[in-house]
Amino acid sequence: MILLDGKLVSSFYKKKLAEEVKEMKARGERAPHLCAILVGEDPASETYVASKVKNCAEVGFDSTLIRLDNSVSEAELISRIESVNINSSIDGIIVQLPLPAHISVQRVTESVSPAKDVDGFHPLNIGRMVQNLPSFLPATPLGILLMLEHYKIETAGKHCVVVGRSNIVGTPASILLARNSSPGNCTVTLCHSRTKNLKSITSNADIIIAAIGKPRYITADMVKEGAIVMDVGINRIQSSETKSGWKLVGDVDFEPVSEKCSMITPVPGGLGLMTIIGLLQNTLKAAKKEVQPVL
Ligand code: NAP
Repeated sequence: MILLDGKLVSSFYKKKLAEEVKEMKARGERAPHLCAILVGEDPASETYVASKVKNCAEVGFDSTLIRLDNSVSEAELISRIESVNINSSIDGIIVQLPLPAHISVQRVTESVSPAKDVDGFHPLNIGRMVQNLPSFLPATPLGILLMLEHYKIETAGKHCVVVGRSNIVGTPASILLARNSSPGNCTVTLCHSRTKNLKSITSNADIIIAAIGKPRYITADMVKEGAIVMDVGINRIQSSETKSGWKLVGDVDFEPVSEKCSMITPVPGGLGLMTIIGLLQNTLKAAKKEVQPVL
């Protein structure tokens, strides 16, 4: 079994990004600049945003963190986003999800300039992705593609089963793996909570992408011998093995599945790290004005 090692692969990509930033600065250009907007104090969101800011610094990007109170109105949040949209010193904007219940994720997502939408969540970028036009790809699916590419995994003609159909992971991952592209050209089955006989479908998969949000949901009996297993899930569970009393596990039952499959991503240390690379690559693209979607 080959471990698809997010630490190794992300550090490879970070070195490349850092070199590119050095070259930009040597040409007298400014470094790419990411703005993260964090509403409230959700501990998981705090951790994710802190990690994004830290990774920006590691590759030489500038970053700005805007913190807003949980009680901020939707109008105030959108007005802050609009001011970042027109700030020419900022290339990319991310609004950390989840947002408080009184704020519409859809309206907020659509208020981000598509040219600065480095999370790749704006409907314009999603539409362009579907049509295989230059766009910002959603960061987690992009991280999956980069992982497949790095390990030179042939995907053409393979049966890829994606479990989970969220707008940010499962649905775009299924579209990207089905595109006439490399990685891509898979025959894709997209599964969700209403799927019947999930086990009979996953058991036929050459590649499984698990994006469910349920700890260790994909068990060894659901996986074909020699399959490639990509685990997007990040679930915090109680544990007597750690001092803190909790640990992170994926949506895949790692130990038994790893004995059966040919390749697998661990959690932590897998696709979470690749998501950050997707975000950094998108921010660099935004700084270089490589994607110019116009509404
Ligand atoms: P989500 O929006 O909650 O979507 C979960 C999906 O799983 C839904 O489509 C749901 O189906 C499906 N599902 C739920 N129970 C199922 C079942 N029993 N059988 C089959 N499908 C089932 O979650 P998400 O945002 O996509 O995130 C998924 C996981 O990835 C979470 O653990 C999250 O923390 C993690 N994540 C990781 C990263 C990263 O950087 N690695 C990034 C984002 C998310 P319905 O549509 O029918 O409800």
